[in-house]
Amino acid sequence: KMHLSYITEEGLQISIYTGDITEQKSDIIVNASNTKLKHVGGVALAIAKAGGRAIKQECDAYIRKYGDLQTGKYIKTSGGNLRCKHVIHAVGPIWNADDMGDQRHCIDLLYNLLLDIFKYSSFLRAKSLATPAISGGIYGMPLETCAKVFHQAVNEYSAKHSGKASLKEITILNLHDDATATFILEFGGAFT
Ligand code: ADP
Repeated sequence: KMHLSYITEEGLQISIYTGDITEQKSDIIVNASNTKLKHVGGVALAIAKAGGRAIKQECDAYIRKYGDLQTGKYIKTSGGNLRCKHVIHAVGPIWNADDMGDQRHCIDLLYNLLLDIFKYSSFLRAKSLATPAISGGIYGMPLETCAKVFHQAVNEYSAKHSGKASLKEITILNLHDDATATFILEFGGAFT
């Protein structure tokens, strides 16, 4: 299996490999959700199915109370039946959507969303986090671009925040080897 794993100078463990995020064991699992927290396709549907009713009920209750999420925002629910403590449901930008501004704006939104998620995970005292390639599927951001944004966000978190923060392990999971290869290339690893 294609796999990249390394530890940054600041002691943050980064892993990239092919796998199903619903089977991942980590304190936080990130979901690539939508503004209505309706888990109808892609990784969100997989997480909703594997996570069970609790996650869906918490998401629906949130929307009833506060309304839709904005793009670039996230909420936390329990982990339901997943092997995690919390799920962070994050709304990535839709690439080339009419109301989304230019591509630079999408890139900035995803970058800030990732940094927010990493910092919030530390606030939750989480040590490990697993995330899919948010916006890199149905939402249409080219995977090379998506991988670059992840790389920059991970570097920024590592350099500026990881020192005294609890989050020490970030795993990026893809369902297919070609997507994993794109991420590994961006992160500068060799194929092993
Ligand atoms: P978005 O709508 O934000 O683009 P998607 O759900 O379409 O999100 O998928 C984001 C990425 O997650 C895609 O690259 C997709 O192939 C991948 N993916 C889908 N299901 C899973 C899964 N069970 N585990 C890990 N990655 C997944």
